[in-house]
Amino acid sequence: MPRTRRIPVPPWRDTPQRLQVLRALAARPGFSSAKLLHARMAADGCEVGLSTVYRALAALVEAGQADVVRDDNGERLFRHRGEEQHQHYLVCRHCGFALALDTDEIETWADRIARESGFADVRHTVELAGVCTECSAGPL
Ligand SMILES: [Zn+2]
Ligand SMILES: [Zn+2]
Repeated sequence: MPRTRRIPVPPWRDTPQRLQVLRALAARPGFSSAKLLHARMAADGCEVGLSTVYRALAALVEAGQADVVRDDNGERLFRHRGEEQHQHYLVCRHCGFALALDTDEIETWADRIARESGFADVRHTVELAGVCTECSAGPL
């Protein structure tokens, strides 16, 4: 039997609250902070604590079901990642607007690194952040 070392990832458990967080996240375009998501869920009559939302989002990221970026204040912004979706974004640090990017070059480079290193199951995270045209036009 081949012996492979794996970094253990906490298993995703489909608790009702986590599924509610997943649904709420999937319903939103672009990136959302945990606070914003929590407020949206509360407005929809969904009684989930903010700490539960944080934990669920962290679990979603671990499970590869969500992407995460950081804004200027170091606050994490989350976006749902579908089964086959793999996408990079240019995210506005002010409003969280996320522009999907054509990043073939990154994918080609990442594939080559994976091949040459001999590593299996290589994943990557690329974060680009700036100020969107709308935010840079108006007063901040
Ligand atoms: Zn913006
Ligand atoms: Zn990529």
